Amino acid sequence: MSAQSSILDRLGILADAAKYDASCASSGTAKKSSVGGKGIGSTEGMGICHAYAPDGRCISLLKILLTNHCIFDCHYCINRKSSNVVRARFTPQEVVDLTLSFYRRNYIEGLFLSSGIVKSSNHTMEQLVEVARILREEHDFRGYIHLKTIPEADPELLAQAGLYADRVSINVELPTDAGLKRLAPDKSAPQIAGAMAGLKREIVEAKDARKRFRSAPQFAPAGQSTQMIVGADAASDADIVGKASTLYGKFGLRRVYYSAFSPIPDASAVLPLKRPPLIREHRLYQSDWLMRFYGYTTAEVQQAADPVSGMLPVDIDPKLAWALAFRDRFPVDLNRAPREMLLRVPGLGVRAVNALIAARRHRTLRLDDVARLTVSIAKLRPFVVTADWRPTLLADRADLRTMVAPPRSEQLELFAA
Ligand code: SF4
Repeated sequence: MSAQSSILDRLGILADAAKYDASCASSGTAKKSSVGGKGIGSTEGMGICHAYAPDGRCISLLKILLTNHCIFDCHYCINRKSSNVVRARFTPQEVVDLTLSFYRRNYIEGLFLSSGIVKSSNHTMEQLVEVARILREEHDFRGYIHLKTIPEADPELLAQAGLYADRVSINVELPTDAGLKRLAPDKSAPQIAGAMAGLKREIVEAKDARKRFRSAPQFAPAGQSTQMIVGADAASDADIVGKASTLYGKFGLRRVYYSAFSPIPDASAVLPLKRPPLIREHRLYQSDWLMRFYGYTTAEVQQAADPVSGMLPVDIDPKLAWALAFRDRFPVDLNRAPREMLLRVPGLGVRAVNALIAARRHRTLRLDDVARLTVSIAKLRPFVVTADWRPTLLADRADLRTMVAPPRSEQLELFAA
């Protein structure tokens, strides 16, 4: 595509090319606002238009690539060097103008900017940083900025990115080093890990400095995140859960995003022909929540997977799968059990557990009290004791799984997603 092509044509290409990246959530950043006439934009969600990509992912940010030219040849990527796609490119100033114009029309709450690698990693990173710099310094833009950073670029450039962006991210891409080597031959697992460690260091140092001096500069206040592609290589769910846990622990990531591999036009022969069911991505997000909010260890989440294949069941959620595998931990007495055991009960979310704990301070809970807090009392009954309910040897029944699994119609909806 020629440099003269209209902005709109290029926007069509570069927004479409960016949709394969799942990591666009804008949660958890510092509050900045232009209320009072200072600057432009706000990270708080007042009057924001949300839009969704055809596959249902949130794109309330202007989510684009600076360019889909790339000198790398990652097999799973539509923008790889050997791909036969129409190419386009924005200048940093064009991205700035687009962002401001979308922002002023209230279409977006900020910018999610990524890029193929053009000329060199450093050159590309410089351009990404330049977009953020112009927005922040020349326009006093206070909206949200998420910059994808390039692990092969100079650490100094990554450090500059963090000074302007709310969130920075580096895609780990594949769950295993062997998968990365095979499918992204130009990338290096140690380089990705080194860049993530560098960003973590900057984030921690900036936080420490701000505790001492309020005027110390912020560094990526919404932290760093990453994305893993699911189903492009042979990694099992247990492998993916293990990798995510290592990433959270080692690099203090805010989020790991899981993206079901999408077959791309002109796909390389080393890739699977079919995408994995989207339900697999959903189960991985659920397992991620178990580790982050429900107190499950990595090994416990992995125990919910099939011991031979390492795959999480698709017909039931990982919390229910764990409860069925460890029936001896149940039933849980809802009137006496500690919070951590209440969180293990299938069908009870964090909010329901908090409500139960508050309610049981004043009265003895009966099954009806619990039914008001869950969508499926049938799923929960075999696993709990209340003042008026105790399951009778239910946990020993061979057909327990069938009794508590969601109805087949609901399962089919999930598989179709
Ligand atoms: S570096 Fe790899 S994943 Fe990124 S745009 Fe280039 S080919 Fe695609």
